[in-house]
Amino acid sequence: MTMEEGKRIGIDEYDVIIISGDAYVDHPSFAAAIIGRVLWDAGFSVGIIAQPDWNNGSDFEKLGKPRLFFAITSGNVDSMVNHFAPSKKRRKKDQYSEGGIPKRPDRAAIVYSNIIRKLFPESAIIIGGIEASLRRLAHYDYWSDSVRQSILADAPADILVYGMGERQIIEIAKSQDSMRNVKEIVQIGGTCEKTSIREWKNKDKSGIIELPDYISVRDSTDEFARAFAMQYQENNPVKGRRVAQPHPKTVIIQNPPARPLSEEEIDHIFELPFQREAHPSYKEKIPALEPVRFSITSHRGCYGECSFCALANHQGRIIQSRSRDSIIREVKKITRHPDFRGTITDVGGPTANMYKSHCPRWSESGACSRTEKATCIGCPSLVGGDNEYLGLLTDLSAIRGVKHVFISSGIRYDLIRDEAFLRAICRNNISGHLKVAPEHISDNVTKTMNKPPRKAFDNFLEIFIRVGMKKPKKQYVLPYFMSGHPGCRIDDMVECAEYIRDRRLYTEQVQDFTPTPMTASTCMYHTGKDPFTGQKLYIPKGREKTIQRAMLHYRDHRNSKLVTEGLERSGRGDLIGNSPLCLVNSHYKKRREKR
Ligand code: SF4
Repeated sequence: MTMEEGKRIGIDEYDVIIISGDAYVDHPSFAAAIIGRVLWDAGFSVGIIAQPDWNNGSDFEKLGKPRLFFAITSGNVDSMVNHFAPSKKRRKKDQYSEGGIPKRPDRAAIVYSNIIRKLFPESAIIIGGIEASLRRLAHYDYWSDSVRQSILADAPADILVYGMGERQIIEIAKSQDSMRNVKEIVQIGGTCEKTSIREWKNKDKSGIIELPDYISVRDSTDEFARAFAMQYQENNPVKGRRVAQPHPKTVIIQNPPARPLSEEEIDHIFELPFQREAHPSYKEKIPALEPVRFSITSHRGCYGECSFCALANHQGRIIQSRSRDSIIREVKKITRHPDFRGTITDVGGPTANMYKSHCPRWSESGACSRTEKATCIGCPSLVGGDNEYLGLLTDLSAIRGVKHVFISSGIRYDLIRDEAFLRAICRNNISGHLKVAPEHISDNVTKTMNKPPRKAFDNFLEIFIRVGMKKPKKQYVLPYFMSGHPGCRIDDMVECAEYIRDRRLYTEQVQDFTPTPMTASTCMYHTGKDPFTGQKLYIPKGREKTIQRAMLHYRDHRNSKLVTEGLERSGRGDLIGNSPLCLVNSHYKKRREKR
């Protein structure tokens, strides 16, 4: 963080300087820490400038010029998602900053890159992290309600790393170390590069899929949807091809995703000597660290392909699991941490019960995707990892100093085939609430979300009740529901609210759909159609979206007016009144009638 720290260990010039929009936390859940540790492990020295003041260049100069390159990230979360609520109101807190006080600019990767280019015109700049990854091609930007260029066209960076970046950053560092010419570093899996229009015209384009250009996708929603489906198809580390998208001043070339990490590789990364602490210069806590400080990442990837999630476009659909032994070693190390009180708060990944899932096809041709009309959920070729996961949880609980091993990552309920699995995790690994994400109940909406239908959730609840009745402590299902998704009408929200009422599933944990970059749902929101089927979709916007959100919290009296309006719009006046089945009392209706 300071030049003095480097000098204390004999460093006068760093090989790589990471500039991050997050506070610096040395924990494997924080991307800058992982990339920094991986580079150190490969023999490169790394300095970190966390949350520099973008109004004052001196923060960017404090570690000098790196020998190889600057690596710039907006942080663990897209800076616009971090700064704004779905209603586009600016948030007051930033979970990744000291004391929760916001300390990064909007569109941080672009702002930081511009400053570095000005201060160090000769230095190579690599951008990465979730913001760069999911804005790597022309994309819809909800906050400006426009189609923006690839972030690599907007930022004066040389290479963009997408997906999980360990493999890419090492390859770039080694290439830069030997060649010292970033322009010659090309065709690294999991990166995008840019080329001039002139070079593109003369280039051999064999093996490159050309997407509709930026101007076409900006001006035509049909072309936008076509480009989205084309790039999605190539998002396969085994058989994906290079794709190119011409922009007015440059051409962005996306190489296929990086090869998934082997078990040995992922074990090695997570066993690097992370301190699980924020940098000692911070006086206040970094809120995002506290819930994950003693959590374990058991795997990466998700083959669920929910439409509103960008994971398939970032971590990928192939599950990369760590070995049981590596996780045990990590937990044993955690037990020696002075602040550890005996609770491992999570053992999971994007979906906890995908640990050790695999399919023989993954190594030969990558995971099938919805563009091929097949997904892994329910496929007979998929081999689940329930036994390995349960065995792991049991082994971790037996480690001296561990009192509880909890699962706080989401459980994919439609993968649960075995009552004994559910019983075991409910008994031993759930701290009162089993988090599941049906997201909706209306089949019109779950189909668009690529989530299982209502019947699958009904079946799961039946099993859960059976299992719950026999167990000693009371457990609850904590379902996540989403309003305002493309394809969702007020009638669908009424169906969802009635389901919540009848099953006593009312929860504070609901979300209003936010069109974040590079998801299928965002493509639907912008274009009004499903990019994979071409089917036209109803898109709730404006007041209707607010009403839909209110319907999930129909008990909150502040929402009575909106809920009443929603019920009237859907012709469900029978749900306004004082009977136990009513979602809202008749207060607002009467007041309006009086007026
Ligand atoms: S064969 Fe089935 S499990 Fe294997 S990748 Fe394809 S859909 Fe997934």
